[in-house]
Amino acid sequence: MCKLGVLTSGGDAPGMNACIRAIVRYGIKRELEIIGIRRGYAGLLDSDFVKLDNRAVGNIIQRGGTFLGTARCEEMKTKGGVNKAVQNLQQEGIGGLITIGGDGTFRGAMALAKAGNIRVIGIPSTIDNDIYGTDYSIGFDTATNTALNAIDKIRDTAGAMHRAFFVEVMGRTRGFIALDVGIAGGAEQILIPETETNIDKLCQSISSSIRKGKRSTIVIVAEGDEAGGVFPVAQQVWERLRLEYRICVLGHIQRGGSPTARDRVLASKLGSAAVDAFISGRSGEMVGEVNGQIELTPLENTWRKRKKLDKSLIRFMEELAS
Ligand code: ATP
Repeated sequence: MCKLGVLTSGGDAPGMNACIRAIVRYGIKRELEIIGIRRGYAGLLDSDFVKLDNRAVGNIIQRGGTFLGTARCEEMKTKGGVNKAVQNLQQEGIGGLITIGGDGTFRGAMALAKAGNIRVIGIPSTIDNDIYGTDYSIGFDTATNTALNAIDKIRDTAGAMHRAFFVEVMGRTRGFIALDVGIAGGAEQILIPETETNIDKLCQSISSSIRKGKRSTIVIVAEGDEAGGVFPVAQQVWERLRLEYRICVLGHIQRGGSPTARDRVLASKLGSAAVDAFISGRSGEMVGEVNGQIELTPLENTWRKRKKLDKSLIRFMEELAS
């Protein structure tokens, strides 16, 4: 029986558990032995292995986080770390590895494939949705809905008090969460790293909203926006408009919580597709979903190529908020 390892690495994302569950149950049906590796590459360097059977992954599909645990591990970025990881996998008789995470996780996987002839398959899972080769990464839908839920609540109080709110959402260096939340939450403006932030233009837009009789204004600021986050943006608007405002930084609540149906379905599909890819002899690739179809992308492309964000949607959002 062939042994296949699975680990979650980098930032956790809702849906990782559903993905591990799919790998275990789909893999066991296909005569694979599935070995879980706790705490990502940190656990791999400690040989922190656990055999997973169908019961081990019961009652986890609805849980956020990852029951295997995750970590960021600097040692894995060194030659010595990679060699040790290969040695630990070989000692355990693990011939292949499915890594669930972001592009950093895939760099680690590729290093293992090159150094030790380990067959590796990546699965994209990060709330930031910034991975090339898949329309959505596992966790993005849940994080977006968590942020949206908070923004709907903020809208109630903003409307009641006739106030402006500046809301910071996650997304690291990209604006995918901010864009979707902006459209779905009817935001007046969004500030994202993909477009130049112009505070004067933002002020004109806020003033025009007020003149039109809008009772509330919500500006979504992506954490990676070049303006430096929500505090300097709100301060600069205050200096120009003397407008009463409140700030809300949503932060890590966006990373937790029970995964949405969409994330669970995506996680289940990608988990089983990764097992299929492994069985058919593939390696050094990531399974993703593009236009509803499973696609394999070379792992290198996930850090060499930049995923596109549809900027035309910003104009669209502004029109609808007018
Ligand atoms: P997220 O998008 O949530 O941050 P990620 O997978 O990109 O996920 P990283 O912290 O960049 O998160 O990477 C996760 C881990 O992958 C690192 O802590 C490290 O152990 C390993 N890793 C990252 N880059 C490399 C590399 N160049 N070589 C070997 N291992 C790496």
